[in-house]
Amino acid sequence: MKVAVVGTGYVGLVSGTCLAEWGNEVVCVDKNIDKINDLNQGRLPIYEPGLDVLVERNRAAGRLFFTSDLARAVEDAAVVFIAVGTPSRPGHGDADLTFVYMAAKEISTHLAENAVVVVKSTVPVGTGDAVEKIIATKRSRDSFSVASNPEFLREGVAVKDFLKPDRVVIGVSNARARDVLMTLYCTPLEEQNTPIVITHRRTSELIKYASNAFLATKVTFINELADLCEQVGTDVRDLALGVGLDSRIGTSFLNAGPGYGGSCFPKDTLALLRTAQDHGVALRIVEETVAANEARKRKMALKVLDAVGGNVDGLTIAVLGLTFKPDTDDMRDAPSVPLIETLQRFGATVHAYDPIGTENAARILDNVKLYDDPYACAHGADAVVVVTEWDSIRRLDLGRLRMVVRAPALVDLRNAFEAGAAEKAGFKVSAIGRPANRQLEEDNAVPLQLDSAPAPIVRNIVETMGR
Ligand code: NAD
Repeated sequence: MKVAVVGTGYVGLVSGTCLAEWGNEVVCVDKNIDKINDLNQGRLPIYEPGLDVLVERNRAAGRLFFTSDLARAVEDAAVVFIAVGTPSRPGHGDADLTFVYMAAKEISTHLAENAVVVVKSTVPVGTGDAVEKIIATKRSRDSFSVASNPEFLREGVAVKDFLKPDRVVIGVSNARARDVLMTLYCTPLEEQNTPIVITHRRTSELIKYASNAFLATKVTFINELADLCEQVGTDVRDLALGVGLDSRIGTSFLNAGPGYGGSCFPKDTLALLRTAQDHGVALRIVEETVAANEARKRKMALKVLDAVGGNVDGLTIAVLGLTFKPDTDDMRDAPSVPLIETLQRFGATVHAYDPIGTENAARILDNVKLYDDPYACAHGADAVVVVTEWDSIRRLDLGRLRMVVRAPALVDLRNAFEAGAAEKAGFKVSAIGRPANRQLEEDNAVPLQLDSAPAPIVRNIVETMGR
């Protein structure tokens, strides 16, 4: 099938490439000419594991093209995806739909007869109706269809998520759009038996926001319980495991940390709240999630202050990991940014390391010395703070790290290290949802009668004691 993808960012590039991998002929369009030039020279504008190989393979096979010429990309496409950004409107919280409406307007004069326009961007309920109206100013309503097909990929594992999704959601208002999208998705996903949810367009739009709000709430729930764990001397990781193995709950998104960030959860929770407000509905749980996550940012800075005795003025803090999660270069709404800015306001000098994200970080952060070596970054630091749990950070030689720092404070906001290992290396560790002093848990523990315990008769034993 001939497909055009308008917007070649994290979602558009991955979607377009994967659709080409499934055998479609795909043209990805972007207004950013540098991006298109890079792609045409084989350079990826984003870091996404596994994507480079797929782009190269499909370009070489003549199935994947990049252009800034929207008219040519769209004119013979059976399906046109809109995958442009929908950022939060500063000070308002609602989704800024300027790019979506602009894209709709631009494609309207070039669409092929019977083309299906698919909004993949995350958009508030009713946006499909508005896109349809915009296009209808240029052509008759029965010559095109508008569908919703929200994207659920996660940066860092985006290729796998697109090629092997948990489900595909398709929102349509007529049979033609339904049939075209079923053809696009059903054959490649048939073998995996992937559920495909076909629903009304407005329902599909809302599913995306509800999913992200639920996940943001789950993260916030475990973060608050982590605070309680610290006070009562238990380990949130053990708690999360015991809770998450209940199949009704699930273990994913139960890693306590510095609060959710990234290009989706913060803006999508706010946009959902705005939609609810506009319709006179109270989404109190989502409101509390947003507020708790906001408060957590300040709390994380205070945790660093505590670790160094209450004052960072004049101290050097080494921040390890800057991107909002590992395996991406995306710095949008990364928790590292407010943390660093707060520490700077309190008078700290900040040095920072990230294996991939320093280029994007340099565009956002002021007065931060950026390193591509973690030991050089930590050299002479009064405290080390882990904000993103990249593998290269988890695997650090803690003994070597201890040798280069000035003082032994290690604030591990991702529980990247085993407390025992970091303490053994000489660090004073302050982690998330683990007792400040590991001894507390041991002092309070009722001694286990291991000798008299019956021999285990089940195979799946998860032993969390003593880690
Ligand atoms: P992005 O900023 O990385 O990419 C958007 C691209 O669209 C940019 O390259 C921009 O230049 C281009 N663009 C804007 N207007 C254009 C136009 N008229 N014609 C051609 N190109 C145009 O954004 P993203 O992260 O890919 O997100 C896109 C959408 O997908 C958003 O709505 C987002 O909420 C949603 N989403 C993102 C993710 C994610 O992990 N990033 C996951 C699921 C859904």
